[in-house]
Amino acid sequence: MSLLARKEEVEARVAAACKRSGRDENEIKIIAVTKYVSLETTKSVLDKGLLHIGENRWQDVKPKWEALHERGTWHFIGHLQTNKVKDIIGKFAYIHSLDRMSLARELDKQAAALGIEVNCFLQVNVSGEESKYGVAPEHFFDFAVEVSKLKHIHITGLMTMAPYEMAADATRPVFRGLRELRDRLNERKIFPHDITELSMGMSGDFEVAIEEGATWIRLGTVLVGKEG
Ligand SMILES: *Cc1c(COP(=O)(O)O)cnc(C)c1O
Repeated sequence: MSLLARKEEVEARVAAACKRSGRDENEIKIIAVTKYVSLETTKSVLDKGLLHIGENRWQDVKPKWEALHERGTWHFIGHLQTNKVKDIIGKFAYIHSLDRMSLARELDKQAAALGIEVNCFLQVNVSGEESKYGVAPEHFFDFAVEVSKLKHIHITGLMTMAPYEMAADATRPVFRGLRELRDRLNERKIFPHDITELSMGMSGDFEVAIEEGATWIRLGTVLVGKEG
């Protein structure tokens, strides 16, 4: 299938999921995850008007970012080691994987040095799966309170991943759990602004995520494809 055909199919599935759940399609933003494809294909993705690009390792994205960063909005979606912050700070508009205080402090320190604010999503391990990164739900509010004290971090929303091998419909409680955490966060007014964004849903489960309130879906295989 061509990239254009995949894009049209994904857009139709997004529209159908919105219709089923009474949501406005304009609330859903698609991040094209290009980690499995070449620089050439990433260029084609941008040519098709998919302007949000997601990547998860600096060493892989570097040549793409250097060639194409002015053409899109770049999202760092993968686990971020503290010693890699210096490579990516200031280059990505959003970091989806803020999951611990040591990382928050390093991001804040380096953002302060550059005189910028860095937009982050707090990553939560809603499913409790051991292999997944993310703060545990029982530590989430304490973590949010600590992060809220850092002046150079701006919290955009919350992010989670459902276990890869889970059947799509079994993921629903994971996505619902993230939405409920967001709502409770706003009730407690931990941040001075309302948190609206939910980064959740991948190739295998994005429709369920939309039905449960996703505002950013991160799509690799189903949209961009896989090479090599
Ligand atoms: C790879 C990746 C995706 C996209 O995965 P697909 O299943 O191919 O859509 C989304 N989010 C994160 C954090 C990823 O690492």
